[in-house]
Amino acid sequence: MTPLATEPLLPEDRIDLTLYAKVDPARFVQCFRRTWEKIPAEGREILLVHWLRPDSRDVFKITLLAHVGERAGRSMYGYCHHDGLQIGFSIAGIDLLPDHLVDTVIAHELAHAMCFACEINPAEDTIDSMVVKWGFPMAELRQAVALHPNL
Ligand SMILES: [Zn+2]
Repeated sequence: MTPLATEPLLPEDRIDLTLYAKVDPARFVQCFRRTWEKIPAEGREILLVHWLRPDSRDVFKITLLAHVGERAGRSMYGYCHHDGLQIGFSIAGIDLLPDHLVDTVIAHELAHAMCFACEINPAEDTIDSMVVKWGFPMAELRQAVALHPNL
């Protein structure tokens, strides 16, 4: 798949959003920036160091796709793999959620990335607890996504 465009996501840190869908990324970008500011500074630093290492640079990508969840059991909202270097979100899922729950999806995937960066692989419950500690309504998100629970 060839990306259609990139959009500045965290311009101060030179982090872009890669777009694979012909969508207006404005709402997602706004949610992402608001979420990023709510994450403790130490956590943001861990992520930036992890993402911007020379050996990460070619792999690292934050993506906005049309759909991520075509296969059964896969999230339709977001994912985090490749050691926390590939994080993606689905505009189809994002469009279903109010802003505060979009923020919570983003925080959840960033929590996964942070754990990868620290070389720990916690259970989903532990990820959810991190997100709650940062001030996001994880329980409300779990309820909202109950039909497609994988995040
Ligand atoms: Zn998860």
